[in-house]
Amino acid sequence: MSPFSRQALPPGVATSADLDVWPEGLLASIFEVGDDEEQARIVRFSSHFKRTVLMSSDYSGYWGDREALTLLAEACLRMYNWDLQPQITWVRACDFNPVCRQVIKDAYGPYDHRAQPIGAEPSKKACILVNLLHRIPKVASDWIDAARPAKQASVQEAVAAHQDIFEWLDANKLWVFPADAVSQCVTCGQECFVQPLLKMYPEKYQHLISGGDPPSKKARTEQPWTRPLVINCSGTTCTGWTPAGKCLRQADPSEIPHAVYVLDRMRSAQLELEDAFIQENSAFYDYMVKIKKPLEQTHGIIKVVWGPIKGGFPVRRERSYMAGWNKKTMAWVGPETDEDVQAHFASFCCTRCGL
Ligand SMILES: [Zn+2]
Repeated sequence: MSPFSRQALPPGVATSADLDVWPEGLLASIFEVGDDEEQARIVRFSSHFKRTVLMSSDYSGYWGDREALTLLAEACLRMYNWDLQPQITWVRACDFNPVCRQVIKDAYGPYDHRAQPIGAEPSKKACILVNLLHRIPKVASDWIDAARPAKQASVQEAVAAHQDIFEWLDANKLWVFPADAVSQCVTCGQECFVQPLLKMYPEKYQHLISGGDPPSKKARTEQPWTRPLVINCSGTTCTGWTPAGKCLRQADPSEIPHAVYVLDRMRSAQLELEDAFIQENSAFYDYMVKIKKPLEQTHGIIKVVWGPIKGGFPVRRERSYMAGWNKKTMAWVGPETDEDVQAHFASFCCTRCGL
């Protein structure tokens, strides 16, 4: 969009006071546009918050998704007199970078006024896991180490080796990605469950932890329980895709944790332990090949390409944002094609840059 056609857009943030109410402005742009769908959007959105929401994050960085959703939830409480109390529990983060882990620990430690999840018990601190690859059995990570391309491998050899690793993980996913996978946690100083539902409700998932039968229909009727909504947010490594990196694409070493990330989503959906995921990467990320196609059996996936300038901030940094939903547990009622999804998203979120 040219700077001239932007003049027709609603004004964006222009002062520091505007910044304070930016989440409110975002909500208003979605829920106060006065179209025929407004009421339906409110009902769908608020119904999700009436359940407990369990959030997890991989490739967490400084855990920006936590900050964004916290601000949005707080704005929901301030703005609307909805009969709801968001129960968002931040179950875990995970990052390979020790600086990121330290920042997360410091930012969401005992001195942060929002350290505790909204509505959660104070004792439930978020797990911080060390490495995405630690959640698979050692024999599998040993196999990956043996199969990873040599440093002097050509681009073609590296692509082929990464493809072999993905296919091997996919073929062996039933035992490589068990429901009760654990991973070293720096918060708890022990190995913790990777799956948020098992971490938070082990008594409900004994059949997945120690075997046996799942709860009978009679038991479920006698003790009704609304399973929380489970969402994963991840900003997968972009060095292989962004022009700022080496543009090695599928020859980039980040392909290996990406394979684990994708198959983790697949298994979590098959086991009905995760309902949705949000993924962020470079605008040049090949989302069709890297995630939409591999997950087409388990997930519906949409994508928008978005950057700060489209939301009214004078920074050009376009990224791909993908949302996937578990076809077993959720349904998409929005536009069908990528082009229509992009236009629909822009119709709510595009603002003029006033800074
Ligand atoms: Zn833990």
